[in-house]
Amino acid sequence: MKIGVLASQGAFIEHIAAIEKLDIEALPVRLPGELKGVDGLILPGGESTTISKLMNAYDLMSEVGALAKNGMPLFGTCAGMIMMAKKISGNGAVSLELMDITVRRNAFGRQVDSFETEIVIAALGKQPFHAVFIRAPLIEQVEKDVEVLAKLPDKTIVAVRQGNLLATAFHPELTNDLRFHQYFVDIVKGKRK
Ligand code: GLN
Repeated sequence: MKIGVLASQGAFIEHIAAIEKLDIEALPVRLPGELKGVDGLILPGGESTTISKLMNAYDLMSEVGALAKNGMPLFGTCAGMIMMAKKISGNGAVSLELMDITVRRNAFGRQVDSFETEIVIAALGKQPFHAVFIRAPLIEQVEKDVEVLAKLPDKTIVAVRQGNLLATAFHPELTNDLRFHQYFVDIVKGKRK
């Protein structure tokens, strides 16, 4: 099994390291040809406007969109989640328009635009997950097919799944906790229906 990590821009090295710690092959994807033989793809955090420009410039937009619509699992973190949303409120990037969610970019205001907190995520077990938010988007709205995986104490939705698509507003790759990456690998293996 091979997991690709979109390496146009942003925190892709950390995702590659996390997948490798799970003893699974991970490879950077910068060009459409590198998607060949990839069983799942991670879209990292970074700057969604830049990521979408680069994905367009390298013809990755239509290719990744088509593979995901065909069932290839995608895991988007932060800017990667923005890239997966069907709707971006306010001024946004051009996204792949895959998930039935509405996201708002840079949603946590200036003072707290970066923060860390512990959240209990039932799908990952009892132990809280240390969630790192960096100029994070939030999920304003989800449609009925979307499963909410995590919320902040004020009920803000910060992690969702819709079939083969998984997205978090925070950065699991910046912690040593591999449970979110394992959860994604299980989706790729078809173990998590
Ligand atoms: N603020 C970035 C954006 O809107 C996302 C930040 C991140 O990925 N850490 O694209």
